[in-house]
Amino acid sequence: MMKYIGIQNEVVQRYAIDLCDGSKCRSDWHRTHAHLKLRRVCKWKQANSFASTFTLLHEVGHIVTNTQSMHRYEQEYYATQWAIDRCRDYGLAVPERTVEQYQRYIDLELERGIRRGLKRYRRLLLANTAAEL
Ligand SMILES: [Zn+2]
Ligand SMILES: [Zn+2]
Repeated sequence: MMKYIGIQNEVVQRYAIDLCDGSKCRSDWHRTHAHLKLRRVCKWKQANSFASTFTLLHEVGHIVTNTQSMHRYEQEYYATQWAIDRCRDYGLAVPERTVEQYQRYIDLELERGIRRGLKRYRRLLLANTAAEL
């Protein structure tokens, strides 16, 4: 059953995402990334797996939640929490190790921000709303 593919296709449609294999992209960044204003997700590898689905949801989360005043660690937090919440909506449990992995990334971005002079901040903690299904 193509459970994940079906959810991915619906997400792409619902949030009007322009998927790009990299041919429309000027950056040589090889990992999956989003262009916020273009609502474009670049170099995402579609596969019928949770990992592929969560990567897509995280990038769409950037497109949907981003505001100009956000610091990098906040962008990563809100994009990831949005992805977790959509997993809940679609009935997908999010493994704790996935949450821990993204939390580490958010914390690293916060530490980097502090090193660069960020003065007002608070640690943002992901809530695994989709854990118990
Ligand atoms: Zn790109
Ligand atoms: Zn991100």
